Amino acid sequence: MSATKRGCHPKLSRGRVWCHECGAMLKVNSGECMSSGWPKCCGYTMSLDSPEEREARKPEEARP
Ligand SMILES: [Zn+2]
Repeated sequence: MSATKRGCHPKLSRGRVWCHECGAMLKVNSGECMSSGWPKCCGYTMSLDSPEEREARKPEEARP
């Protein structure tokens, strides 16, 4: 298996994104997202990190 897929995030292969505002989960097709835009929810771009993963990572960058 190749670790470097062009333009493909490893987490994209799961085909799921989450909204961290309301907790919604959405199944996505990575090809579709690249061509038609990333899904948004509650005014934010949905995340490739599951709520559990986000909790564990706690990103420091806070964007206004
Ligand atoms: Zn939402």
